[in-house]
Amino acid sequence: MKRPILIHPDPRLKKVCPPVADISDELRALADDMLETMYDAPGIGLAAPQVGVLDRLIVLDCVKDEAAPAQPMVMFNPEVLAVSDELNVYEEGCLSIPDQYAEVERPREVRIGWLDRDGNPQEQDFDGLWATCVQHEIDHLNGKLFIDYLKPLRRQMITRKMQKLKREKARA
Ligand SMILES: [Zn+2]
Repeated sequence: MKRPILIHPDPRLKKVCPPVADISDELRALADDMLETMYDAPGIGLAAPQVGVLDRLIVLDCVKDEAAPAQPMVMFNPEVLAVSDELNVYEEGCLSIPDQYAEVERPREVRIGWLDRDGNPQEQDFDGLWATCVQHEIDHLNGKLFIDYLKPLRRQMITRKMQKLKREKARA
């Protein structure tokens, strides 16, 4: 089942989400809903606070080639365990900040630890788009958006555009 995606600014997008204590069927269903919502958008990552649920849960699939098999990943309590010194710049966007893109610099490679949907601990290295995406999604769990990396003026401009978009949507 698809869920509505919150649009910035929203106080729920600024909260630090507490860790998931145990992975219930309800949380697994939430992860499935989030994947469906992400693919439908379409997007390559989604964090639980973006659908208004303040739990440490993210989903992602950064396979861009339409002919390649999908690679959906579900991560409960994801943690950055190590980062490379080398940085990488990607033009990022966000489903909560539609049609706005900006370059953000982040570590090129990251090692992430998390619990999978069965509660088993996993650990994996990511690079390229996957590394950028997983860091962007983990930021969401800490109340941080990609526009928080931008200069204040640019951030305010984008926020005003989103406020206008929300007013228009409310009237529609
Ligand atoms: Zn985002």
